[in-house]
Amino acid sequence: MKTEIPVHEALAIVRKHARPIAEKERVPLARALGRVLAEDLPALCDHPDLANTAVDGFAVRAEDTKEASREKPAVLRLVGESPAGRPFEGALGPGEAVAVYTGSPLPKGADAVVAVEETRREGDRVLVFRPASPKDIRPKGDDFKKGEVLLFRGDLLTPGRIGLAAAMGHAEVPVVRRPRVGILSTGDEVVAPGEPLPEGGVYDSNSYSVAALVAEAGGEPVILGRAKDDLSELKRQLAAAGALDLLLTSGGVSMGEYDLVRRLLEEEGEIYFWKILQRPGHPPIFGRYQDTLVLGLPGNPVSAMVVFFLYGRPMLFAMLGRTDPPYRRIRVRAEDFFKGAKGKVAFRRAALEYRPGAGFVAKSAGNQSSGAIRTMATGHALVAVPPDRNLNPGDEALAIPFDPEALGAPGLPEEF
Ligand code: AMP
Ligand code: MG
Repeated sequence: MKTEIPVHEALAIVRKHARPIAEKERVPLARALGRVLAEDLPALCDHPDLANTAVDGFAVRAEDTKEASREKPAVLRLVGESPAGRPFEGALGPGEAVAVYTGSPLPKGADAVVAVEETRREGDRVLVFRPASPKDIRPKGDDFKKGEVLLFRGDLLTPGRIGLAAAMGHAEVPVVRRPRVGILSTGDEVVAPGEPLPEGGVYDSNSYSVAALVAEAGGEPVILGRAKDDLSELKRQLAAAGALDLLLTSGGVSMGEYDLVRRLLEEEGEIYFWKILQRPGHPPIFGRYQDTLVLGLPGNPVSAMVVFFLYGRPMLFAMLGRTDPPYRRIRVRAEDFFKGAKGKVAFRRAALEYRPGAGFVAKSAGNQSSGAIRTMATGHALVAVPPDRNLNPGDEALAIPFDPEALGAPGLPEEF
């Protein structure tokens, strides 16, 4: 068993043990948001299917309007219309025009369109005031062609990719089965929210914060509830949980007598590492219980979230075969003092502010105790303070946003 290992080593070990999930399922597009594609997807059609027009106006032959101007309009004969979904059936001859609307198929014989603003209609005649151009024609297959592979295995299905899959003709998409992640909170003092709080009790925030992080990473959280600090009861609860791809426990990983997650792995499993050189989140344990991978999160609410975010989230990405990175780093300038830790990386919670021209500044999100969960709600990022150092106002640092919605200045620039 390794112990007191650096962050990068812990990350390498959890990644090594996270096996990609082979099972796929087909889901309708309306339920595909946040899922991960299990196969490459080819387009089932050209897009657009026929050359069409990008404006409301008239399809013509460029030749017929090349001399047209306000003073000397070209005069064409209106021979029909080509609304979207009902193409003009004939072919357009010399001196003729067909009314078209945005998205209309371009009639045969036409090679240019002129916007309605550049024309005047007089009965069945159309006066054209400037040369029609082909630039407002979207050629057949302009966006993509049938058979072209546009979406790839490992792609996260975002709104844009779901729209693209629909445009490609797919009603359903093959996605990777979501990893089933059991979440079990240990501790005699831990009480479900909504119940009366006994003296010395603490509401179970970890089950819910971690379940939300699991769902956000693409996993299926299975909240197993609370376990007393009793090994045989814990084992009974786990036996009832069914098959899991990963078990997350919270609490019971410190040095205390009641720290039974370690004993669980010792008795019926294996420990790959215990303790990482970081703060908060120094005591996590990683191993397996029987055949199930276990990441033992510390009980302190900030530590539980930080450890899942830094190590559990990349495990889920690896299981899902996601090709996007589990987190990103940005450069920030500290605006407050951020305390470091002896021999450990400190991950302090910061509220970020984007200053146009100056980049991101990081302010302390508040009380930095690992028991004070409020910073996970007020903060947007973990500012990494290197071992044996503090950050002073004005210092540059790396930050890992856990709330990417806070990135950038709010809203659109005023000049829009
Ligand atoms: P432990 O890791 O079990 O020693 O717990 C460390 C601290 O976290 C203690 O103050 C616990 O009361 C608290 N804690 C443990 N589990 C939870 C939980 N599920 N939700 C909120 N706080 C917890
Ligand atoms: Mg405990």
